[in-house]
Amino acid sequence: MTEKDRQYKGKRILLVEDEETLATGLLFNLKEEGYHVFWARDGLQALELFESDTYDLIILDIMLPYHDGFEVAQKIRQKSPQIPILMLTARTGIYDRIKGLEVGADDYLTKPFHLRELLLRIEGMLKRKSWYKSEDGKSTICNFGENEINFETLSGRAGDREIQLTLQEARLLKYFFDHKNTVVSRKELLEQVWNIPFEIETRTVDNFVMRLRKYFEPDPTRPVYFKSVRGVGYIFTG
Ligand code: CA
Repeated sequence: MTEKDRQYKGKRILLVEDEETLATGLLFNLKEEGYHVFWARDGLQALELFESDTYDLIILDIMLPYHDGFEVAQKIRQKSPQIPILMLTARTGIYDRIKGLEVGADDYLTKPFHLRELLLRIEGMLKRKSWYKSEDGKSTICNFGENEINFETLSGRAGDREIQLTLQEARLLKYFFDHKNTVVSRKELLEQVWNIPFEIETRTVDNFVMRLRKYFEPDPTRPVYFKSVRGVGYIFTG
């Protein structure tokens, strides 16, 4: 058994895809790789399967009967902030990608894709689920002000308030922590945290920073930790 097999064998994947030919091929190939795969043919079935079992990762098509991928992602995120969601988008659907990330997807893959690409992406996401586990044994807990973040459990505390972070919120927060007291541009954040080319007009970064402020700032309208730098981006001064 290779290292890879040990790591990923038996991981449970919920595949949400209405194109039968594509789904059948993916089912076969993912099973070959050692994953347990469960197939939902539409948005309704996706939510039913999600409710009735647990999974390590979700592959989610956007155009689906009953509930589209955005609705499914939103509903899943309400229940589970942390399960990795990989969205499948059309080649021209750059705005779909952004919308997908806004509603809670962690990554996207453009159709048509090569199997190898999908497999790498899945492995990356399953790995990313444990990205916070520092290899040097450093603490996964960070503090600033009255706030505490546990990157291992993706949970936080703001005073007495418990907070559950999504993977994407935690990744942004981690980036801020790693670049404390440094001005970081929207461009840099989009590229480093979201893997999106900057040419796209998007409020993604601002929306996420707003969420972090709502969680952790004593007064989100007068931020002291996540400050705006006009015309550039943000600076974290935790
Ligand atoms: Ca579809």
